Amino acid sequence: MSGNWWDILPREAYSKLEKVETSQPWYSVYKIQDWLYCIYEDGQYDEAVMYLVIGEKEAVVIDGGTGIGRLDMLVEELTDKPYYLVLTHTHNDHIGGCKHFNDIALCDSPQGWESAAKGLGKEKMYEIIQPGYVWKDYPEGFNPEKYYTPPYTVTRWLKDGDIIDLGGRKLEVLYTPGHSNDHVCLLDREARYLFTGDIYYTGGVTSYLPWGNHDQFIDSCRRLVDLAPHYDWLMSAHNEPNVEMEQMKAMYEAAVAIKEGTATDYKESRSVSVNYDLKVRRYQFERFSLTVRDPL
Ligand SMILES: [Zn+2]
Repeated sequence: MSGNWWDILPREAYSKLEKVETSQPWYSVYKIQDWLYCIYEDGQYDEAVMYLVIGEKEAVVIDGGTGIGRLDMLVEELTDKPYYLVLTHTHNDHIGGCKHFNDIALCDSPQGWESAAKGLGKEKMYEIIQPGYVWKDYPEGFNPEKYYTPPYTVTRWLKDGDIIDLGGRKLEVLYTPGHSNDHVCLLDREARYLFTGDIYYTGGVTSYLPWGNHDQFIDSCRRLVDLAPHYDWLMSAHNEPNVEMEQMKAMYEAAVAIKEGTATDYKESRSVSVNYDLKVRRYQFERFSLTVRDPL
């Protein structure tokens, strides 16, 4: 068997969740709480996971995903509350949906300003739909020839410590650079969920990309480990939700072991994209890998 990335789907985590049928098969939607939905793009290689968090007054969608489907219309199927988009950071698999939202919150940072001002052109967005990366049928209305992210308007610039108050539901903004420089995590202390963005997921995590920084990545993980008394679950931006909180410590220890030279299970390679060509090392750990610049 040749082996496709999607052969491992469905991931086991989803068998425990309540699936919700919607009019948009591009997204697989799961209800985690009455007020919390997981929106999963399982048809595309990055397996982006977005979350809809619904308060008494308004709702937010955490991350925009690839933008191949109509996330805004899906949200309107799931809630009648006013809503806006909150980006954990601005990589292509998170901002694709921005073109469908006119109320967007993003980390107040040079990388964030640049992303909003420029969007992302066809070449960089094409990486998402390159051959072998999509197995589901494209939804009606999606044209791969015209796939790019136009500049977008940020209506709310987020700073560390801001509270996103949805009415009876609060998300605390944690500035967590390292994977990118415009990265935030969101903490719901009451419900004990940490929305990790790309700081933790069960897959190939990185600190090497442009605007990434391994020392900052370590510091951000350390901060999240220190906050561990306040969450039970890691709500990751890729692959699967509801990861055990202990994994945050595993990521911190992995990042430190790489820095200190005590991690030894790695492969060297090059990572090539439109805007970079870098020598990297991919270190394998039990439930994730961590790829860093070589040398650090
Ligand atoms: Zn990312």
